[in-house]
Amino acid sequence: MVETQLRRRGIRDQRVLSALVRIPREEFVPAESRVEAYIDGPIGIGWGQTISQPYMTALMAELLELKGTETVLEVGTGCGYHAAVLGVLAARVISVEIISRLVEMARGNLRRTGWGHNVVVLQADGSTGYAECAPYDAISVAAGAPDIPPALLEQLNDPGLLVIPVGDRLDQELRVISKRDGRMEDRVATQCRFVPLRGGEGWK
Ligand code: SAH
Repeated sequence: MVETQLRRRGIRDQRVLSALVRIPREEFVPAESRVEAYIDGPIGIGWGQTISQPYMTALMAELLELKGTETVLEVGTGCGYHAAVLGVLAARVISVEIISRLVEMARGNLRRTGWGHNVVVLQADGSTGYAECAPYDAISVAAGAPDIPPALLEQLNDPGLLVIPVGDRLDQELRVISKRDGRMEDRVATQCRFVPLRGGEGWK
């Protein structure tokens, strides 16, 4: 997976590549999907949700340029795999998930595998961020938003980086917003397809 899906497609950050080598992805997918854990695409995890394609997880992590000292907000924990990756790359991860059964699943996966010591999973509508633990040096949104929620920009530290899929319900652009010296820069990293962001600033 790391060689053919990640390195060959341009993922270069050694810390990201080694995180994806070390974290057992098969432990985060449903038992019946274990044999497919390393395929080049998303996999269903129940409740209409997915674990993202490995390349997308790696790309989003790389775009956040994490060095190991950061506090990160993840919106959309799902099964907890991406949260585990962020936990290896940063100092502390706050991951919020709107579906309570997935909160339990993610907590269970992180506890069982031992990869969640610096990851806190909370049940909340993350479309308005999670103000209690702000500011965040990096924010990673794993569901497609109709627009960039203003609360996420407010909760982003300066300097800080936000990655978020923005577009319609089916197709989005993965946007990277950089805040530095009080100024915002916005660019498109790639086209993508995520499950819809729900909640107050998401799809109704
Ligand atoms: N991070 C996951 C991908 C999860 S899929 C991985 O490891 O690959 C996106 C998740 O976002 C789903 O579990 C969905 O329930 C959740 N979600 C959607 N809208 C949300 C919201 N407003 N707040 C928090 N989580 C949300």
